[in-house]
Amino acid sequence: MKIGRTLVSAEEIDAKLEEMGAAITRDYEGKDLLLVGILKGAFVVMADLARHIALPLEFDFMAVSSYGASTKSSGVVRILKDLDEEIDGRHVLIIEDIIDTGLTLQYLMKNLKVRNPASLKLAALLIKEGVERPPLDVAYEGFHIGPEFVIGYGLDFDGKYRNLPYVAVVDEV
Ligand code: 5GP
Repeated sequence: MKIGRTLVSAEEIDAKLEEMGAAITRDYEGKDLLLVGILKGAFVVMADLARHIALPLEFDFMAVSSYGASTKSSGVVRILKDLDEEIDGRHVLIIEDIIDTGLTLQYLMKNLKVRNPASLKLAALLIKEGVERPPLDVAYEGFHIGPEFVIGYGLDFDGKYRNLPYVAVVDEV
């Protein structure tokens, strides 16, 4: 595998996260906000986005995996690590790296909604176009990209390349 062309540069990501952070800061002014990152991929966007949010945030994480082939979501989600804290009455914002089929988030939103948060919203850096998916209300979104498989900025290929500071396509060799 080779790292292909850059799809979203580090500078473009930072500018977008600044915009998203400003909107989140405005919307949650005066409220306690809990960011929930979906591991592993979201740890990079969570760290950088959070530093553009001027509120006293709290953080929690969930780790999930979908059964089946590694590069395609099966829609059957297994919770590998649940939240540490109860979210009853809390304002919760889920942070996701990328939305492909949307099946992971559809499951997670349903799973978290029944825990009675005061509010439950979704932020995602990348959204794939040309993919059929269930309706998902993404309150804060970054970039719309094509349906190709991407790496970097939290996204892996076979467990690697999450630390690339930009998003790139994969060149098969
Ligand atoms: P969904 O349930 O929306 O199909 O899948 C979401 C998860 O699949 C993401 O959180 C991510 O872990 C993985 N995923 C989806 N598309 C890509 C991609 O292009 N590259 C990488 N590395 N992971 C992806």
